[in-house]
Amino acid sequence: MTDASTPPRCRFCGAPLTTTFVDLGETPLANSYLTEADAAAGRDRRYPLHARVCGGCFLVQVDEPVRPEAIFSDYAYFSSFSASWVEHARRYAEAMIARFSLRPQSLVVEIASNDGYLLQHFHAAGIPVLGVDPAANVAPAAIAKGVPTEVAFFGRATAERLAARGVKADLVAANNVLAHAPDIRDFVAGFALLLEPDGVATFEFPHLLNLIRETQFDTIYHEHFSYLSLVAVEKIFAATSLRAFDVEELPTHGGSLRLFACRADASHRQTERLAALRAKEREAGLDSLAAYRGFAPRVEAVKRSFLAFLSRACAEGKTVAAYGAAAKGNTFLNVCGVTRSDIGWAFDRSAAKQGKLLPGSRIPILAPEKIREIKPDYLVVLPWNLIAEIRADMAFIAQWGGRFVIAVPETRVLAP
Ligand SMILES: [Zn+2]
Repeated sequence: MTDASTPPRCRFCGAPLTTTFVDLGETPLANSYLTEADAAAGRDRRYPLHARVCGGCFLVQVDEPVRPEAIFSDYAYFSSFSASWVEHARRYAEAMIARFSLRPQSLVVEIASNDGYLLQHFHAAGIPVLGVDPAANVAPAAIAKGVPTEVAFFGRATAERLAARGVKADLVAANNVLAHAPDIRDFVAGFALLLEPDGVATFEFPHLLNLIRETQFDTIYHEHFSYLSLVAVEKIFAATSLRAFDVEELPTHGGSLRLFACRADASHRQTERLAALRAKEREAGLDSLAAYRGFAPRVEAVKRSFLAFLSRACAEGKTVAAYGAAAKGNTFLNVCGVTRSDIGWAFDRSAAKQGKLLPGSRIPILAPEKIREIKPDYLVVLPWNLIAEIRADMAFIAQWGGRFVIAVPETRVLAP
């Protein structure tokens, strides 16, 4: 934390952060779901959510308002709850086993292994696995799936401790975790220590280029410290004895990269796909500050169009509900200033969230079965990245003339 007169410093290169990407005001921590008693006690305290871009390394980042231990040690999100995410993990395992000829003598390590949703597929194929995750409350679920789990934050110290025990990985998966590392340099420094000489690390992360192009400001929240481009990540790799050699563009989370990295001295050859992506980012100007400056006004436009939709719906006496109590929905609702008088209910499949309130907006979370009782006229799908799956599952809202609504990158009403 810093006072207003001194700019914060880049979490990677230490340069002062003087350029705003977007200032989203003050919002509660996006994963701090509340009981009614928590709400009465004001446990959804708001913290500044201000994303800045570093002029030295082009890492887009938000301040860390609280120690990460407070955020991650009792993490409410169990990866296995989304059907499409489990399927994504299964296909990843299949592809990596084939491409890198993983065998019963290999070792696959996953950083932020959660409940073992991914490693279970390698385990089922007879390949030894090890999960690393700081959340003590998810480790028992992983162990029950046959996934041994080290309860720890990953970084240089954890990698050294594992290496001293003889742990050397042929594949290290770091999917959707790089952005959540508060000390990104220390985090990435652990990989070269953990990899076999020709081992491979894969990093999946939402691509900043898509965040900018599609105005995905709702993917910005306190627990998500960094917003990553190839430009920034390759600078971090260069400082931590790693290098990228291949990349795939994935549709997950509104457009992600799967970056393949190895030790700087490994034999993997750089692919043309990687060179093409570097050129694409250069063309978009991600290596100059100008590309980042037009983002904030577009966020304002998205917000205005959603608020106009809500006031029309209200004037027409329509009921509006939300689907999916995900982190991005909380950023979206709180940045728009929406409360339970605008949106009466949020439906979510996670039993751990049902009966609680969304932080800030304090909208009650109900089981999806309640949709048939409440019969909302509009169902705002907050995790827009899962719209295809949700639209198929909830097609029955057509029975009472219900419509789906997507608010990013612009408000659109969709027939079931
Ligand atoms: Zn920097």
